[in-house]
Amino acid sequence: MIEFQNVSKQYSSDVTALRDVSFTVNKGELVFLAGPSGAGKSTLMKMIAAMERPSSGKVIVNGQDISRIKPVAVPFLRRNLGLIFQQQRLLTDRSVLANVMLPLLVTGASSSQAEQRARAALDKVGLGDRANAQPLALSGGEQQRVSIARAIVNRPQVILADEPTANLDRASANKVLDALKAFNSVGVTCLISSHDEQMLDSAARVIHLNQGQLEVAA
Ligand code: ADP
Ligand code: ADP
Repeated sequence: MIEFQNVSKQYSSDVTALRDVSFTVNKGELVFLAGPSGAGKSTLMKMIAAMERPSSGKVIVNGQDISRIKPVAVPFLRRNLGLIFQQQRLLTDRSVLANVMLPLLVTGASSSQAEQRARAALDKVGLGDRANAQPLALSGGEQQRVSIARAIVNRPQVILADEPTANLDRASANKVLDALKAFNSVGVTCLISSHDEQMLDSAARVIHLNQGQLEVAA
């Protein structure tokens, strides 16, 4: 599903974010991407969504080499990816439900269809009763679960969650991880990054990054 072949990323002559990184994530897998701040986790995640390009090596997503993907093809790639990134905050001027409906409306669903599916997605993350709330009235963990609902509402094959549990207490963080695991259990491939070793699930596969390099063969 996701394959990195000897991927390096140099942002400038003195900043190398990834060095010769190779790994494969298979369809349906749940994989944690661990490593301290600055290790290159966000860079790696962004490459899968073609938000950054490798300086060398290949990134293959769903059989397609996206290392030099054309800009017109990027929306098609992203249609199969549910992205949960720090930069993609909820829109605070509209309800939780409207936030989750948005990706469906953008891809042409009718508003009644979008509402039904958005409510179903909110139910799945345990927030069916908060549909009409404004995002800022929710706790950080609840907001993060709304982001998960928004990311999965289009039924992507892959979820990329960059530090989804950052700044959350343990109980809220566990609820966020449980929501992600629930989608993994119905077949969605999940890649979840965290700088907090305590957040890693001992049962799941873990890829460790340190200073841009994989620590353990993965
Ligand atoms: P992590 O997500 O593990 O904290 P990042 O991928 O954000 O790591 O960063 C890896 C390295 O690349 C860091 O040294 C960071 O400062 C650098 N970096 C990240 N993004 C950029 C960018 N857009 N331009 C220049 N340097 C960057
Ligand atoms: P619906 O069929 O109305 O979308 P479901 O109860 O089947 O309702 O699913 C609720 C939400 O959960 C959907 O909107 C979808 O985004 C998400 N979902 C459920 N199953 C999957 C799956 N296998 N892959 C991706 N997303 C899923």
